Amino acid sequence: MTNLKFEQLQLSKELIRAVKDMGFEEATPIQSKAISKIFEGKDIIGQSQTGTGKTAAFGLPCIDMIDVNNKKLQAVILSPTRELAIQICEEFRKFLKYKEDIKVLPVYGGQPIERQIGALKKGVQIVVGTPGRVMDHMNRRTLKMETVKMVILDEADEMLDMGFREDIETILDKIPEDRQTVLFSATMAPEIMELTDKYLVRPEVIKVARKELTVPNIEQTYFEIKEKTKVEATSRLIDMYSPELVVIFCNTKKRVDELVEHLQGRGYFAEGLHGDLKQIQRDIVMKKFRNRTIEILVATDVAARGIDVDDVDMVINYDLPQDEEYYVHRIGRTGRAGRSGRAFSFVVGREIYKLRDIMKYTKAKVKLGKLPSLTDIEEAKTNNFVEKVKKVIEEGRLNKYINIVESIISEDISAVDISAALLKMNLYDENTEDIDFEDDLEDNNEKLVRLFINVGSKKRVRAKDIVGAIAGECGIPGKAIGDIDIYEDYTFLDVPKKYVKDILKGMKGKKIKKVSVKVERAKKR
Ligand code: ADP
Ligand code: MG
Repeated sequence: MTNLKFEQLQLSKELIRAVKDMGFEEATPIQSKAISKIFEGKDIIGQSQTGTGKTAAFGLPCIDMIDVNNKKLQAVILSPTRELAIQICEEFRKFLKYKEDIKVLPVYGGQPIERQIGALKKGVQIVVGTPGRVMDHMNRRTLKMETVKMVILDEADEMLDMGFREDIETILDKIPEDRQTVLFSATMAPEIMELTDKYLVRPEVIKVARKELTVPNIEQTYFEIKEKTKVEATSRLIDMYSPELVVIFCNTKKRVDELVEHLQGRGYFAEGLHGDLKQIQRDIVMKKFRNRTIEILVATDVAARGIDVDDVDMVINYDLPQDEEYYVHRIGRTGRAGRSGRAFSFVVGREIYKLRDIMKYTKAKVKLGKLPSLTDIEEAKTNNFVEKVKKVIEEGRLNKYINIVESIISEDISAVDISAALLKMNLYDENTEDIDFEDDLEDNNEKLVRLFINVGSKKRVRAKDIVGAIAGECGIPGKAIGDIDIYEDYTFLDVPKKYVKDILKGMKGKKIKKVSVKVERAKKR
């Protein structure tokens, strides 16, 4: 992998700071390849899988190419769905943390057009929208295309599949020809080629080649869990299998630090390894790991690249990796030199699709597993201990201890009592709280449905207003409502499928913060 550092990509220091704040350590392969080409002003056809960071691949150069002093529309991003348009906008707003004078706005069907017009009038340099609504604004002249310098078609194949071809062509026909056109697509179907032939000028094709990946022959298991039970699940796996050396992978530095703190709090010998550490600090951590002073190393992919220990007996993907190649690198840390190894992955909700991608491209067989219960762990610990005891008996030279035992034995205390007490002292830790992972998932996970509500933080809506309204109007227990994401003008929330009908019906014509709300199923990406 030839991933570049963000500093190597001619990006402004404001953007570099912003992506660092987001926890990005280095550019992904598509970012490493596409960003400088886009800066060169070329038309681009980019092809890479989902989850490989395409938003930043086009977003970062797009932002840096905006003329801050010009308040007119300069870039248009077309995306197949409303939810995706919103996501792209949210990601752009994070990139814009230190460039606040660049304004970006999502426009999509389903939201009153007047409100969008109002927002557009304030001056927006970047618009992210679905083709239908962008065309609508174009026809009303509320989006003036004459000043547009860059067009980005995200998930172009998806847009064509959804029947947006005509709209896209109408839009592209209206944008000055000296613009730059960037197109991303997961496939290069003939329809895509037709579109690029017609609208792109001498495009450069950027493909992230998928290397032949070979996954070592080790036991790979995944667990479907919730974010908040990950720490507990990690402890369980470690307690269950008592590995000597474990490497746990997280996707960002922040996650590494947090997990290390949790594990240390629970009494494990764990340390973190990430890009913020100086070389000398890393060397110290690695030395401790090799000497077994610590048994758990928590690392980001980047930091782990330099690790050269080959007797790791367990790898945990605390976060699923962004890239399937990372998956292979990660689990390749274990099972080396003929040793047995285990690789565990945590999967939260829709990440199951990412895992399926990983399995498809790496041909890895990852089995669904069940996290050990406390009883399983007790049993495993007991077995372990009993094995150790047997070994000690085999080794003999116990005379001194037999004498002690004999001196304790009396009418009230038998040899069995003494053995039982010793076992108890060695084995059981009674103050752990049990969590039933299965139960915990039952009402959630696959069965969660994402809903969209047309009010957000602008109307001072808070999570408890949403929960209150839904619980009150629809007779649904407030605690059944899952994640709530409040944006300026809208809110997404997860609810168990079995309540969806009641909510859609119950919320009809109701108000939250004096706004008549519309609740609908969020469109799938
Ligand atoms: P795609 O559009 O290719 O499906 P996204 O742009 O949606 O992928 O990115 C997927 C996820 O990866 C997002 O959560 C994004 O914030 C994160 N991401 C993108 N680039 C990086 C990076 N260089 N380092 C770490 N995380 C990244
Ligand atoms: Mg994308």
